[in-house]
Amino acid sequence: MSRMVLFGPPGAGKGTQGQMLAEHLGIPQIATGDILRAAVKEGSELGRQAKSYMDAGDLVPDGIMVEMIRERLKADDASEGYILDGFPRTVAQAEALDDMLEAIGQTLDAVIHIHVENEVLVERLSGRLLCRDCGATYHTRFSPPAKDRVCDQCGGELYQREDDQEETVRSRLTVFEERTQPLVEYYRRQGIYQKVDGDREPQAVRDAILAALGTD
Ligand code: ADP
Ligand code: AMP
Repeated sequence: MSRMVLFGPPGAGKGTQGQMLAEHLGIPQIATGDILRAAVKEGSELGRQAKSYMDAGDLVPDGIMVEMIRERLKADDASEGYILDGFPRTVAQAEALDDMLEAIGQTLDAVIHIHVENEVLVERLSGRLLCRDCGATYHTRFSPPAKDRVCDQCGGELYQREDDQEETVRSRLTVFEERTQPLVEYYRRQGIYQKVDGDREPQAVRDAILAALGTD
């Protein structure tokens, strides 16, 4: 079971689970949001194109995202499989991914939907903290760092994402419902869709995902 998508609304725990699963399964986590934030920080052409969409909580255009993933999947570390986190987010992206894989005789093995209710998502996102250096994810209440604003893993500074403010969170949740939710039907038809309850301890969610993958 090596090529999988972690699917779910912002705040469902895709990043948290992606990090845990990548370590457990020995395959990379490919988080499009992380790649875009790095590009914005660097001030690259990609970052320049993506920034206004990200700030508004909108989706970056499909063409940009598809080319970004096409390049990323060519890297050596993706040859044995990967965990996609935050991609695909539209039916057009999912179709482009299928075409890309088909061209090299591959398919996706699983799409895992981490399901969490909207009120919980808002609470999670409003307390989310990220490490500027290694990208580790924390929460002010649910998984606080040992030392205030300092990453347990690398000592880096923790910060709150601009787009995690409540108003932007609300529009991101609407964007998810309108543009991304249709993928449930898309992948259900392919027979690779599975839903897990994401509203429990991270370890329990991880175990449920591994059980769904049949690799626990
Ligand atoms: P996503 O990548 O889907 O947007 P994250 O993994 O960044 O979501 O999680 C959002 C926030 O919720 C983070 O602050 C994270 O620490 C917290 N979180 C993640 N999983 C859980 C969980 N199972 N229970 C409580 N809080 C969680
Ligand atoms: P995330 O870190 O997954 O919450 O993504 C942060 C932001 O990056 C999103 O709100 C979008 O603006 C953008 N983004 C990330 N992945 C995608 C994608 N697959 N398609 C379009 N926009 C994306």
